[in-house]
This record gives sequence, structure tokens and C-alpha cells, in this order.
Amino acid sequence: MSVDLCDIKTIRAVMELHGIKFKKEYGQNFLTDAGTVCAIAEDCCVDSETILEIGPGLGCMTRELAERYKRVIAVEIDEALIPVLKDTLYGLDNVTVVNSDIMKTDIFELLGDYIDGGVSVCANLPYYITTPILMKLVESKFPFDYITVMVQSEVADRLTSSVGGKDCGAITASLAYYGEAERLFSVPADLFVPQPKVNSAVVRIRMHKEKPVQPIDENIFFRTVKASFEQRRKTLPNSLMTGFSELSKQDLTEIIGSCGIDPRIRGERLTLEEFCALSDALTNALK
Ligand code: SAM
Repeated sequence: MSVDLCDIKTIRAVMELHGIKFKKEYGQNFLTDAGTVCAIAEDCCVDSETILEIGPGLGCMTRELAERYKRVIAVEIDEALIPVLKDTLYGLDNVTVVNSDIMKTDIFELLGDYIDGGVSVCANLPYYITTPILMKLVESKFPFDYITVMVQSEVADRLTSSVGGKDCGAITASLAYYGEAERLFSVPADLFVPQPKVNSAVVRIRMHKEKPVQPIDENIFFRTVKASFEQRRKTLPNSLMTGFSELSKQDLTEIIGSCGIDPRIRGERLTLEEFCALSDALTNALK
């Protein structure tokens, strides 16, 4: 069955045919604009052979990806969509649909065979779980070339802010360690069905082959980042106390000072290099 999966009437007809409804709990807001779908498929990576698509939905983007890349592995949590995808992706023998929750999927087991040809991610992510999915992908240590995702506009601002900048959050600093995020374009809410309350944007993260900083202990680096943003209104020693209860406020103030950082600063203003220096000083203090 080859139909226009971006056409709202077709989307409703396909769903009715299969007796399914939009599931809010899975963040099912489907794209209805063919131009946007093509632009995402076109720009999501440069030359990877394999694309991991998270949440194919009815398969509109999967089809565009299958036309452009050697293989597409599409992971969909909703069992009810699997027979639909069998229909809508019929004849595309370079697509594999896996019925699984991406959060419970072993990324190396799924994609390990394709590393040599390069692997990128392309996804219109469900809003309810954007950050956990992104963190799962980067923390898997799988050598992705690019991770391109459609997210809520405000999340896109966070992901693409400079570390220490106005929209910086823990996710900004954590992601900057793994890759460089770039906002490609905005997508208004009225291009989805059902229509979400917020606008979206497409963000492409080019994954670093070499990390921009090398902390002594990665776990302490991420603990430092997380704690620094935990209490945004507080100064750095107070924020750090939430993540490093082993150390007193005075210890923390001295450690911060020893890195040449003003202890009156707020965590959200630190640069990636300062996070690394601070986490190394904390690592040494905890020995
Ligand atoms: N790709 C389609 C599009 O652009 O129209 C659908 C995107 S819709 C925003 C998100 C999709 O992700 C849905 O198909 C939903 O069922 C699926 N999904 C939600 N949570 C998931 C998870 N944890 N693992 C895999 N797929 C998930």
C-alpha cells in the first residue's frame, strides 16, 4: 500500500482501517507535512549507511529515510503500529521494524554489526521522554555519527545553547561533552496531528570523535554537572552540597576557589572546561 502518509485524511483512514487511535501516553503526534519530513530525512546525517529511527509511527519518515540510506532500523514501542508499518512499508526491503521500547533496547546488540558503515539516529521524538532517550543514546557510547531529533522548541534552545549561556541546563553541558548541537529549523505545532500545544524544532548533534575535555572520572564529571544545576538559584557551593554530601560547604568553597572559579558564581554559568577542572578537583578531594 503506497499512500501519502502526511495527508491527515489518509492518516485517519489508515488508523481507522487498523482500528487504532492516537496514544497520548506514547507521545503520538504525527507529522503532516511532506516537505518537513523530506528535509529531516535529507539533513539528518551526511554519509552514514545505517539510520536508527526511534518511533516510526505510521512510517512517513521511515519511507523517506529508506529512499536515501542503505538501511533503516526502526524501533517502535507501540505493538498496535507494527501491522500498520507492515502495510505502509511494504516492499522496502532495507527497513527492519523492531517492536521495542528504545529505553530498554541494547544499542550495541541492535546496531553493532553496522558500525563500519557509520550509523546515525533520526527521530521525531515523543516529548514525554526526550531527555532520557537522548541521554541513553549518548551514554550507550555507541559511535554514532549524528543524532538528529525533533524536540519541543524550548528543549531545542537548551540543547543548542552554549555552555554557560542563557538557556544552558544540565542537558546542555552533558550533551556538549558528547557532541555539537545545531538547530536546523523550526516546525510549527499545526504541522502535526493531533496538534501539540508547543512548537518544535529539529536539532542535529554531530558526535565528537574526540571529547572536548577529558575528566579524570566521567561519573564525577556528570555528578558535578547535575549538582551544579540542581538548585539554580543557589551559589555553586550550596548547589554542589546536594550532589557531594561527603564534603562540607567549606571544603567545596575551597575546591571551587582552587580551580580559579569565583565561589559566588551560579553553576549554570560555568563553561565545559570549568566543569572538567572542578570535577577533577572533586575527584582528587574524594580519594
Ligand atoms: N515518526 C512519526 C512521525 O514523525 O510522524 C511518529 C513520531 S511520534 C512524535 C513518536 C513515536 O515514538 C510514536 O510512534 C510512539 O509510539 C513512539 N514511541 C514513544 N515512546 C517510545 C519508546 N520509548 N521507544 C520507541 N518508540 C517510542
